[in-house]
Amino acid sequence: MMAVGYNAWLVLLSIALAVLDAYVAFSVVGRIAHSRGPAALLWTAFGALAMGSGVWAMHFIGMLALQVAIPLGYDARDTALSGVPVMLATGATLWLLARHTNHARIVLAGSLLGLGIAAMHYMGVRAMEMRPQIGWHAGWQAASLLLAVAGSTAAIGLHRLILCGARRHRWWRRIGSALLLGGTAAGVHYLGMAAVRFPPGAVSLAAEHGLRGLGLALAVSLVSGLLLLLTLGVSLAYRQLQRRTEAMARELGQARDALTWLAYHDELTALPNRANVLDLLGRLLPTAASERFEVAVMFVDLDGFKSINDTLGHEVGDEFLRSVADALRASVRTRDTVARFGGDEFVVVLERFRSEANLVAICRKILALVSRPVQVAGHNVMATPSIGVAMFPRDGSDAASLLRHADLAMYSAKEQGKAGYCFYQPRMSATARDRLVLSAELREALQRGELQVYYQPKVELASRRIVGLEALVRWSHPTRGLLLPKSFVPLAEGSGLAGRLGEVVLQRVVAQLAQWRARGVPLVPVAVNVSLQEIQDGHFVDGLLRTLRDSGLEHGLIEFEITESAAMRNAEHTLRQLRQLEALGFRMAIDDFGTGFSSLSHLRQLPTQSIKIDQSFVQGAAHNPADRDITEAIIALARKLRLSTVAEGIETEAQAAWLREAGCEIGQGFLFVPPLPPERVPALLLAESLQAATL
Ligand code: C2E
Ligand code: MG
Ligand code: MG
Repeated sequence: MMAVGYNAWLVLLSIALAVLDAYVAFSVVGRIAHSRGPAALLWTAFGALAMGSGVWAMHFIGMLALQVAIPLGYDARDTALSGVPVMLATGATLWLLARHTNHARIVLAGSLLGLGIAAMHYMGVRAMEMRPQIGWHAGWQAASLLLAVAGSTAAIGLHRLILCGARRHRWWRRIGSALLLGGTAAGVHYLGMAAVRFPPGAVSLAAEHGLRGLGLALAVSLVSGLLLLLTLGVSLAYRQLQRRTEAMARELGQARDALTWLAYHDELTALPNRANVLDLLGRLLPTAASERFEVAVMFVDLDGFKSINDTLGHEVGDEFLRSVADALRASVRTRDTVARFGGDEFVVVLERFRSEANLVAICRKILALVSRPVQVAGHNVMATPSIGVAMFPRDGSDAASLLRHADLAMYSAKEQGKAGYCFYQPRMSATARDRLVLSAELREALQRGELQVYYQPKVELASRRIVGLEALVRWSHPTRGLLLPKSFVPLAEGSGLAGRLGEVVLQRVVAQLAQWRARGVPLVPVAVNVSLQEIQDGHFVDGLLRTLRDSGLEHGLIEFEITESAAMRNAEHTLRQLRQLEALGFRMAIDDFGTGFSSLSHLRQLPTQSIKIDQSFVQGAAHNPADRDITEAIIALARKLRLSTVAEGIETEAQAAWLREAGCEIGQGFLFVPPLPPERVPALLLAESLQAATL
């Protein structure tokens, strides 16, 4: 048997190549796994080519490293062909591993690769064309075959584990499995070579015409190494690209999620929005119908929220709305839905509540929690809620009608004095229709001059002299007759017509006074009622001065009555406007005093000359001692503040006598004169001094 040796440098070179090859192989597996369709196929082919040729190059350099006593060569065709089985095996292995892996697949891939490497090895040895034929040592042969299969399988298995495991140290473990696989490939080759037995006197026929030499080994290593590095480079670049694409896809996904969220939520409070509630009810109501449970929809609107926004600014308004959202959420169970429909409108959807009493309790809780004052940017802000409730199936069979009816019920709660709740009743629908028609008619009535002003004298209780008039608006409706303010003033306020209505009344009053003066009628101050909306509209004072400009009337002839609740709401802003009016010489009275919630300190700041005691106290005093006490207290308070008091709604002599005794100076009521059309007023004003004694 011929002695065998190896060129150590070439052996090392072949092992290094094998390890690099394995490392690149694992990288390519990742690319195939993350690609679809043609890209995956292309990566498999590319990988098989690069890896197969790498293993082949390792093997060939290993062969060139072989040193025996005789010259060796390698038949070019056979050597090239020996690369085929390993390329096929690599391709199959890559494809198998890139898809789903399980134990069977790993063993199959390992076996294929092992067999491919072994086949290449034996074909490569044949390329030496030894004569006589070389012999094989069965033990080493078996060992190399076993190593080929077991080593490949183990390396692949290890690599799988890495992919499934934690990200930490992944890089090192990848190098480890590359070392294992590369080492296996090299080991198979050198074990296989150990099995080769060169018979004495044998010659390599290929030494004449075949491939040989150190230069060739280096050239093959260089080409193969470059090819592998190129593959690795492309693979890494491709991975980078894939990651960027994935990141973009993820960002797109997140953007889409955010958009969907926005479409179904209110941005300010993060509560569900109208679309969300419609969606929810669309799903919930059919279930409620089939499982026979009830669903309640509550419409919650804040009273006077607009003035918070107008006077304190939108940021304070927004913050306040967020606190309202919290209060609402705290008022209901977690499974109930609190939504914001925009502005100061919130909707609560409750399912499977126990009873109507249960709903009443929830309404009360909402009232209590939402009405609490909150500190926002140093301001003490509060607004009460008005709540309307509609129930499924009683008040509506679909989302739209339930919401509409809850809304109507909410309006009804507002009409009944706000800060309360109302359950829907069918008559509300009729009322709402009525209101709609009337508000459309009012708009036209304002243009057509259907509004009139009546006048009611204010009388000095001691002398019964007429000391002033109050202008009270009337609407002579073409079909409904003469309408009183309560049936259309709130409507005007609700539909943005308050300003126009105020303007019309003021113009009428001014024209009337000018006309009376021209006729020589002695004039007394005339009180005009103004709504909060008019005062808050920034153009009130300008409009007033414009109306008065050509009339030649002194400002002191006009008094403004503003209700107590209006004067107290939105205090700062209102106060500024009222001060401006005072500075211009107009008089001011607080109307319906006793019904609002005045703070005394605020009352003191108001530039007012008189207080009008609400008629409910005057009329209640006869049978209700509390009303009597309150009235007397108001009169005493007014005195202390040096304000004159006017008692409204005096209907009997007894009332007049008691009020006068209590210290009230002026009265107004049916006892003296009811509100009269303008043509009947001059006679009173002219006769006033004459009748002073007889009245
Ligand atoms: P107010 O300013 O408190 O007016 C007094 C109301 O009491 C008037 O009702 C008057 O007719 C009524 N009244 C007078 N004496 C008696 C009496 O002895 N007994 C009873 N039961 N009632 C008496 P009216 O004219 O229906 O006006 C109601 C409210 O409408 C007014 O209350 C005022 O707040 C508002 N209003 C009237 N005119 C205008 C207006 O031009 N603009 C605005 N914004 N509001 C107005
Ligand atoms: Mg009044
Ligand atoms: Mg009044």
